[in-house]
Order: sequence, then C-alpha cells, then structure tokens
Amino acid sequence: MRFINLHFLKEIGIACEFDFLLEFSLVTDHKVQIMPDSFIHSSWNKKDDSAEIPLRPQALSEFVGQDTIVKRLEVSILAAKQRNEPLGHCLFHGPPGLGKTTLGTILSKAMQTDLVLTSGPSIEKAGDLAGILTNLKEGDILFIDEIHRLNRAIEEYLYAAMEDFFLDLMIDSGPAARSIQVKLNRFTLVGATTRVGLLSSPMRSRFTLNFRLNYYCSTFLEKIIMRTGQILGIFLTKKACLSIAKRARGTPRIANNLLKWVRDFAQIKGFSRIDELLANEALNMLEIDELGLDEMDKKILSTLIDYYQGGPVGISTIAAALSEEIHTLEEVYEPYLITQGFLKRTPRGREATALAYQHLKIPFKT
Ligand code: ADP
Repeated sequence: MRFINLHFLKEIGIACEFDFLLEFSLVTDHKVQIMPDSFIHSSWNKKDDSAEIPLRPQALSEFVGQDTIVKRLEVSILAAKQRNEPLGHCLFHGPPGLGKTTLGTILSKAMQTDLVLTSGPSIEKAGDLAGILTNLKEGDILFIDEIHRLNRAIEEYLYAAMEDFFLDLMIDSGPAARSIQVKLNRFTLVGATTRVGLLSSPMRSRFTLNFRLNYYCSTFLEKIIMRTGQILGIFLTKKACLSIAKRARGTPRIANNLLKWVRDFAQIKGFSRIDELLANEALNMLEIDELGLDEMDKKILSTLIDYYQGGPVGISTIAAALSEEIHTLEEVYEPYLITQGFLKRTPRGREATALAYQHLKIPFKT
C-alpha cells in the first residue's frame, strides 16, 4: 500500500476532489491522506500565537476546580490505559472560557496521543471530515469545538465513525452511485459546546462521558489568578487576587484577562507590586462592578426594566434594542445573569428579577 497526500498533488498542479481521490485509491491501492491546513491544527504544528497557551494547565493535577469532572476523568484515563484502549468519547459543555479546550489538551497529554483541533463550522463537507478521520492514528484525540454547529449530514457520518470506527461514503450519484466503507483507527472524539441543547440526541448519546462545566467560585478563581500571576511573573497580594476573582464572572479566561489588564495598569502607573487598592483602581476603569457585571450586563437589565417594565420580553427584541447578536446574548451574557439571579427565562420571554432592580438601585414595582 502506498500513500498519497493532497498537498503533494496540489504542489504538482493536480487539483482534485475527495471523491476522485477515493476512486483513485480503489483503483491503484493508494491510501488517501487529505488534511487541508485551513481546518486542522495539530498539537505539533499549531502556531504559538495565542497568549492562552502558556497558561493552560498541562495535567489534571494542575487543573483547578471542577473536582467531580477531574475525578471521573482520572478513573476513565486510568481504566483506558490499563486496558490499552483509547479513551471513550467525551462531551464537555458549559459557557465559554471554563476550560473545555484545556481539558481536551490535558486528555491528549494524559493518554500520550496526538491532538487534532477543529471546530464544527469549519467541517463543511463529508470530504473534510473524511480527511480528518482517515489521518487519525490509533488513540488520537479529535477535538471538535462548537460541535453543535456541525452540519446534520456530517453529523450522521460521525455516528458510524464514533461507534464502529468506519466511514460509510457515497461515491458518484445517480445510477453509478455506490457506497464504500473506509476503516478508521480507533480514536477519541472530544466534543465541546456552549449549547448542549442544540446537539441532536443521537449525537449526544454516542458520547460515553458527558461533563457539564460549572462557573468557578471565587476561591478557585483566586487560585487560578495566583497561578497565572506566577507564570507571568506578576507580584500581587491575596486581597488584590480576591478583588479580581470577584469580578471574573466565575470564568478562568476572564480572570486571566483581568489580571493582564491590572498588570498593564500597574506597569503604566509605575508599580511592581499590585495591592487591592491598585487592582480596584484598574478594574474600575473597565466599569466592571464587584459582582462581575460589565457594561453590557447592566445595559441588558436596564433595557428590560426601563423600556419593557422588567419583561417578559423576547430575546430578539432585546437583541435589536442593544444591537447585539441573539446568540451572543444567549451564550455569553444570559447564563451568568441567570445563575446570579438577575434574570429569568420564561416561556413568554426574559424577565428582570427583584435582585436586578435592587442591584441597579431602581425601585421594584410588583
Ligand atoms: P473553553 O474552551 O471552555 O472556552 P479554555 O479551555 O480555552 O476554555 O480556557 C480558557 C483559559 O482559562 C485558558 O487560558 C486556560 O488556561 C484557563 N483555564 C480554564 N480552566 C482552568 C482551570 N481549571 N485551571 C486553570 N486555568 C484554567
């Protein structure tokens, strides 16, 4: 068996489609390798252009919080290693910035396999998926971010790949149409989503391990900020740390970003040590209050209260009033406002709670 690579064909001037290559492989006994660079970033060739990379915990022991998830993963990893089998398919869901990608990278390190990162919207055709899957080695981890945005037809190809490790592909159309089966190496699919409700139930049921990541309490966020501070060489007091943690909306990514902002502020003001006073001065400039509500959160609540008597009002009306995307409101802002008790989702629309009135210092009318 010989291998042929799409990049090689392109280099020598042959532009070809996946179907053509499959036919070619059947006739000539070449194994087809297709992996367009645009939608795949392997852990080996990924450019180190993200400021998040050095901050990502590399092992479960470094991962702060989410104790139940960590314990369950430890068991699954150990069991899979003892049986010398790939890890079961895992689904991580929860709001952005809570550590889903980080857990994916930790799993690949723990299982000592390669990690292939891609995302639902970037897999447009069955050929894209086939290219990714046929290149996975035994035990590799395929991480699909925003898996709820996978096209339904592609999703159906994944079912057989996840369950029986083969791909059922249709070649040609009309009377010449025929289906071929491509055998795959056993791999682990790690799916991440902020909208688990949008995942079809056949897809959801194919994940052996299903984890919901929750917002972090300030104690864990403090630990994360301390850890980031150490990595970035920032000297900050415990109280400064707490002050940042309280404004981080239970989210490690926000905690890290706020810390970086406070560091910049301290540097410009000429301080090498960050205390609570300095941290608060920096954070006040961002207009984030002590409960972590930023300008947009407060706008959402005040729009509801000032223009719609506190609701209920439909999400599309709020989105139009604020010139914001519906899905940004639903995925980024609402979950935190709901968990903090400022907003209610009802069948008739969104409602501001008594706590929202109290927080914005507006008299509550029943
Ligand atoms: P998601 O994929 O859920 O959007 P990421 O995994 O990209 O979130 O995490 C965002 C950032 O937060 C990363 O820089 C990561 O280092 C940090 N982070 C997330 N979870 C933790 C954690 N439990 N402990 C330490 N850092 C974390």
